[in-house]
Amino acid sequence: MTAPIKHLLDIVAKEVEGLKVPVVDLIAVQTKDPFKVLVATILSARTKDETTAQAAERLFKHAPDQQGLAHLSEEKIAKLIYPVGFYRNKAKYLIKLPNVLEAFGNRVPDTVEQLVTLPGVGRKTANLVVSVAFHKPAICVDTHVHRIMNIWGYVKTKDPLQTEMALRKKLPKKYWIKVNSLLVAYGQAICRPVAPHCDRCALNEVCPQIGVTPRKIPKKIPAKGKNNKKFISWNVNGIRAMEKKGFVDMIQEFDADIIAIQETKAHPDQLSDSLKNIPGYTSYWHSAEKKGYSGVAIYSRLTPLSISFGLNEPAFDKEGRIQTLEFPDFFFINIYFPNAGHGLKRLDYKIQFNKAVQDHAQKLATQKSVVICGDYNVAHKPIDLKNPKENESNAGYTLQERKWMDTFLDNGFLDTFRLFNTEAGHYTWWSYRYNARARDIGWRIDYFCVDKNSPSRVADASILKTVMGSDHCPVQLDFFVDKISS
Ligand code: SF4
Repeated sequence: MTAPIKHLLDIVAKEVEGLKVPVVDLIAVQTKDPFKVLVATILSARTKDETTAQAAERLFKHAPDQQGLAHLSEEKIAKLIYPVGFYRNKAKYLIKLPNVLEAFGNRVPDTVEQLVTLPGVGRKTANLVVSVAFHKPAICVDTHVHRIMNIWGYVKTKDPLQTEMALRKKLPKKYWIKVNSLLVAYGQAICRPVAPHCDRCALNEVCPQIGVTPRKIPKKIPAKGKNNKKFISWNVNGIRAMEKKGFVDMIQEFDADIIAIQETKAHPDQLSDSLKNIPGYTSYWHSAEKKGYSGVAIYSRLTPLSISFGLNEPAFDKEGRIQTLEFPDFFFINIYFPNAGHGLKRLDYKIQFNKAVQDHAQKLATQKSVVICGDYNVAHKPIDLKNPKENESNAGYTLQERKWMDTFLDNGFLDTFRLFNTEAGHYTWWSYRYNARARDIGWRIDYFCVDKNSPSRVADASILKTVMGSDHCPVQLDFFVDKISS
């Protein structure tokens, strides 16, 4: 440990000013009600703050206090708090709460020892309630506190309980209540569990970074001429979730001319101004009718001559999957291809969509160059996924999907990554399950293709494997542009 804890926590306190207050603290400040703090804390376990806040609001409308909760059925509670994590179990805990509180004189107890006897209340929850609701010294150690205190070398512990006990011995009492909200906010924004942002951390010079692998800033490929433009394509798997992981900073760091995004899962009216108005870029959005589903977006520094959405086919266009920007000497198409789905239920739909895309791109290619990027949702060849044999009948690697890709490439388009690299083992998507990314059990399903007359305009094509935040990583194309519209 290289700096006193006061110094480290003072810097963190300054840095998190203006960041979002954790939902439980917010409810404590707004309501000053230990019952609501307790319920919100139970709801918040393994759940995002936004989801907790909405679920708590719905529940408190029907059950503003213990008596109100006693009148609800378990089924009703589960319905009100859905989709918080483990909502069924949490409904089971909450239905028991009014009865159990009777033993404490119908009040929420104010000691950790008593609180841990309540249903669904572990040590972390109990400490949080004691500190936030009753302002009594208690140290809530969640994963961020445990992690960061070990990174700083302030403690050397194996789990949150050991950290709590170690902090009780050495952390000055004046920090007990606030250390959790400070380090949760800092852990979510800067010192993240995976690839922390040490490069922009105010503690960089004093933090010993014990056990840390800082994020790598995406490599900038040197420009090969003033008209070499950099394009990025990235399936972000939910742009609102990505915002919390530093998406706006990432866009600036890419320093690209066009950034095409797939799976935004949002309508523009659900987005913050920071997401819609990234300095230097104009953004274009095409969303699905169904909320929280599909959707594509483009951030562009180049001004298009025109922009169009969809394929003139209502069955496809209602899913917000394709946008086409026209520039003076090329078209740029951003596509989120459908997934063939569980049991291949959407395979026919997908193949029809793919054929319509091909017609669209072929028509445009008669006029000028075409760049088509996105999540194609298909691994083309056995070298494009780790386990081809095991996946032969699975969505994304069925014979029909691979055949369509063959046809697409045979009929006038080039997979730009394969112009530079013909090796196996280069992937752009990894399942969230089975620790697949760490084990590099992936698929290459995100592509930049260009029409067959334009390979001389391709300066480079690459996969930005180290960029985290989604289950996909971005892919990049460096493309020569002759004319730029003003
Ligand atoms: S320098 Fe890196 S490891 Fe240390 S606190 Fe900052 S982000 Fe975390």
